[in-house]
Amino acid sequence: MSKNGRLPNYINGQWQNSTAAQFADVINPATGETLAQVALDGEADVVAAIESAAAAFPEWRRTPPEERIQYLFKLKQLFEDHLEDLARVITMENGKTLAEARAELRRAIENVEVACGIPTLMQGYNLEDVARGIDEMMIRQPLGVVAAITPFNFPIMVPFWFIPYGIACGNAFIVKPSEKVPLSMHRLFELIEQLGLPPGVMSLVNGAKTVVDVLLDHPRVRAISFVGSTPVAKYIYSRGSANGKRVQCQGGAKNHVVVLPDADMETTTQIVTDSAFGCAGQRCLAVSVAITVGEAKHTFRDAIAASADSITVGSGLEESSQMGPVITRASKTRIEGLIARGKVEGASVLLDGRGAKIPNYGQGNFIKPTVLENVPAGGELSKTEIFGPVLSLVHAETVDEALDILSQSLYGNAASIFTTSGAAARKFRYQVEAGNVGINIGVAAPMAYFPFSGWKDSFLGVMHSQGRDAVEFYTEKKVVIERWPQEWSRKF
Ligand code: NAD
Repeated sequence: MSKNGRLPNYINGQWQNSTAAQFADVINPATGETLAQVALDGEADVVAAIESAAAAFPEWRRTPPEERIQYLFKLKQLFEDHLEDLARVITMENGKTLAEARAELRRAIENVEVACGIPTLMQGYNLEDVARGIDEMMIRQPLGVVAAITPFNFPIMVPFWFIPYGIACGNAFIVKPSEKVPLSMHRLFELIEQLGLPPGVMSLVNGAKTVVDVLLDHPRVRAISFVGSTPVAKYIYSRGSANGKRVQCQGGAKNHVVVLPDADMETTTQIVTDSAFGCAGQRCLAVSVAITVGEAKHTFRDAIAASADSITVGSGLEESSQMGPVITRASKTRIEGLIARGKVEGASVLLDGRGAKIPNYGQGNFIKPTVLENVPAGGELSKTEIFGPVLSLVHAETVDEALDILSQSLYGNAASIFTTSGAAARKFRYQVEAGNVGINIGVAAPMAYFPFSGWKDSFLGVMHSQGRDAVEFYTEKKVVIERWPQEWSRKF
């Protein structure tokens, strides 16, 4: 970091001061303290990153996959050795608890481990004698320069849904982290620097819209991976695709759980509490709406309110805290406004987390767990992504009615059911319009070797992040058909 606290970029294997004209403060959401300054623009910097990545690509592509993954093995070890330090940086700038930051890092590491399988995952296939004496093969080749634009809520895990696969496949990678949480990626690149990767293979560029626009327009960038809110996902998808790039965009979410009366209420309550209020509700897989069916209306209502009320809210750096603040003052204001809106729409506030006062953290963006009941299924609050510690309770008489409510959502990131009935679970799995489905699971987060499968407005594109989909996304297929007649050969 420079003396004035401005974060540099990592371009061509070196830390370089940003040429940006505008900077923003990076703020600790628990204390209000300014941690650093991050560039908001700097188009020349991103062009330099693209050019150095393009220059690095031909030799990196020629580097055997087996050699490329050796850097990932080293990276995994660096992650393990610096896990606590990285977790602290995540907590300081994002606000989540240390336990949540550690869990996020484990998920990032898991993706590094899976990408170490590239020599197998990247293989193509072939067939002899597709016609007499003619053989055909499909080989996968890297694309070239690829980039990821990532959100604030998982400063390291989300970029790692992409980075390990991108570079293991032989691409040169540029990452543009969220300007709200740039310090985690900065710290990680201090470790990446120790890998001894060829300059240009991995670059870090800070910035906001104008920097993203350069990535979307520059002809040398072949593919864009994005995770963030749906309006921005749609913008990035349309502009990137119009420029002929391969684009995958994971958008916002409004996740439902359906609670049947036969569910084990104690376990269900505990799991739904963690899903709704973990990471202060700022997980793209967080449950936002719980649909109670039949008798569950009363049993679940009372249990969830008590469980939510028991959560200890405080600075994520304190081990006793179970939930931290939300990311910005603006987020806090928006979320509190949505709670008020729910009341106007006819919901009643069962547990009100607004106006939370945390001793010694008067400047923090804290909202305590909030539970709204009788939220009208067709109302605005049922449709809007709140992205905060707010759980809405909606009631349905039957599973079919619950599925019907769920199908009206514009989003399809995740949905879960809690039941002891196999038949109800199967019906749900079969019919539900969401891409990540949980059966007695609160956060249906796919492991790194499965695709992160959002649907509807939660995803634009074809290939998802992680695992085989990521390999498919970061490689281009080439089909070769060969004829080598015997009569052309010299006789030996
Ligand atoms: P965001 O859309 O505000 O920002 C995401 C990224 O896009 C950032 O890097 C930001 O700098 C950039 N950006 C913002 N506005 C832009 C613009 N107009 N043009 C170009 N780039 C722009 O999202 P956020 O607030 O950082 O993250 C929260 C959102 O991310 C939530 O909606 C959440 O559901 C979503 N999310 C989704 C998933 C998923 O898997 N579907 C995972 C994590 C987060």
